[in-house]
Amino acid sequence: MFADRGIEIKTPEQIDKMRVAGLLVGETLELVRTSVRAGVTTAELDAIAEDNIRSGGGVPSFKGYSDPPFPASICASVNDEVVHGIPGDRVLAEGDIISIDCGAIVDGWHGDAAITVAIGEVPDDVAALMRVTEESMWRGFAAARLGGKVGDISHAVESYVRSQGDYGILEDFTGHGIGTEMHQPPNVPNYGRRGRGPKLVRGLALAVEPMVTLGTKRTDVLDDDWTIVTTDGSWAAHYEHTFTLMPDGAWILTAIDGGEAKLAELGVPYGGR
Ligand code: MG
Ligand code: MG
Repeated sequence: MFADRGIEIKTPEQIDKMRVAGLLVGETLELVRTSVRAGVTTAELDAIAEDNIRSGGGVPSFKGYSDPPFPASICASVNDEVVHGIPGDRVLAEGDIISIDCGAIVDGWHGDAAITVAIGEVPDDVAALMRVTEESMWRGFAAARLGGKVGDISHAVESYVRSQGDYGILEDFTGHGIGTEMHQPPNVPNYGRRGRGPKLVRGLALAVEPMVTLGTKRTDVLDDDWTIVTTDGSWAAHYEHTFTLMPDGAWILTAIDGGEAKLAELGVPYGGR
């Protein structure tokens, strides 16, 4: 069923199907995380992800997406690459960071999530960038309530990042609705004002995905037509989860524990099952 502005509203049974897809994405990312180390290529990480998605009964949603078609099952974005990096023969080195974005379709329903991982030791400012970006995503979930607005999430993400230092928050890329397609209305910007935007209702599923840099919010796209890099070469982090609001609280569909532990830490009700 589609409500105002093309927003897809899922039944409880359909949300359960999104949880199946979300878990496959979450488990695939954890598998890839354990495979990240100096000496591995981003193509090897992609192969691990694709194999896990397919053996889990899913289809990689990124492969063949858009035009020119994205050629892989994960996005692998290293250092100053923010998002949409194409896996290839790049060898990860000690001190790099890599953002891995992963999407899968199971039984017609999508999951979409991303993590940033450090290879060995990274400078304190880079470690802080990763921590701040991930935490801002969780502050976004924590601000979401049935009857609230998408802007409540955007505002929470932005305010947390701004409270932590002088970071760049990408504006040209946003979170999004998700369901029978990976990208659906509404957009979920990582900046904005409380009380603005579409209403948060039962059956809405959203991907929240802050993209934060140590410098500018401005980006360029490389000649491969996909890879998004910062214009100033500053490093970037990207975290993402797909979530929904249940009557009792939030349910993070791509988190292996449904988000229960982290939401509890933030004092936020957990609504998963
Ligand atoms: Mg994603
Ligand atoms: Mg996404």
